[in-house]
Amino acid sequence: MIIFQGVSKGYKSNGHELLALDNVSFKINPKEFVSLVGKSGAGKSTIIKLLTGEEEPTKGRIIFGSYDVTKLKTSEMYQMRRHIGTIFQDFKLLPEKTAFENVAFALEAAGRPESEINELVPKALDMVGLSSKEKNFPREMSGGEKQRVAIARAMINNPDVIIADEPTGNLDPINSNDIIKLLLKINELGTTIILATHNKDVINNLSKRVISLESGQIIRDEEEGKYILF
Ligand code: ADP
Repeated sequence: MIIFQGVSKGYKSNGHELLALDNVSFKINPKEFVSLVGKSGAGKSTIIKLLTGEEEPTKGRIIFGSYDVTKLKTSEMYQMRRHIGTIFQDFKLLPEKTAFENVAFALEAAGRPESEINELVPKALDMVGLSSKEKNFPREMSGGEKQRVAIARAMINNPDVIIADEPTGNLDPINSNDIIKLLLKINELGTTIILATHNKDVINNLSKRVISLESGQIIRDEEEGKYILF
């Protein structure tokens, strides 16, 4: 369970305080697929940064499973982050590593033995349909393929939650659709998905919960929501 309770986040900017989030409350149950939508600057990334502990709220409480996110010691923060996989608009793959090595890196960082790495990485690449690209470098792959490697990397430590921050931002509609289908499949297998996007078409074809943000406030929170622009 993820809980945001009365969360506000202010940033100092040119001597003024800007409220990036203004008294935001919501709950996300295990295995939900939730989209955060809103225009650029609405507060989507701020929610993600607060959830992963990258930023601290000015006010309010944030719970991730058994962790009280605002009260964690550094070591507990690292423990918590092992339950979260992240995917970004710009993929964040290591350019000098192959697809296999990019995915393996996440396991090496967690101190897993080579035998396990050699077993798990091919499985993860197979799940995203990229077995044939194991030895390819990011520069040899399309945007859609790079994002699938990033998804394999995010899934490799078997996280409870995948956070996808504008994952289709650099992709054409066909590749975007493939990435969303993959996230739906991962969700069906039991992983919670939090998808931040301003891609209207993606949202309107999903029929999943949508939390709409405007100027740091939740203006709608609907099951089978749509992306409504005014
Ligand atoms: P979104 O992800 O929906 O585009 P953000 O959460 O990035 O929105 O931003 C919300 C608001 O907070 C924006 O007005 C943005 O300019 C501001 N903001 C975000 N990060 C910072 C920061 N590090 N310093 C100052 N202002 C910030």
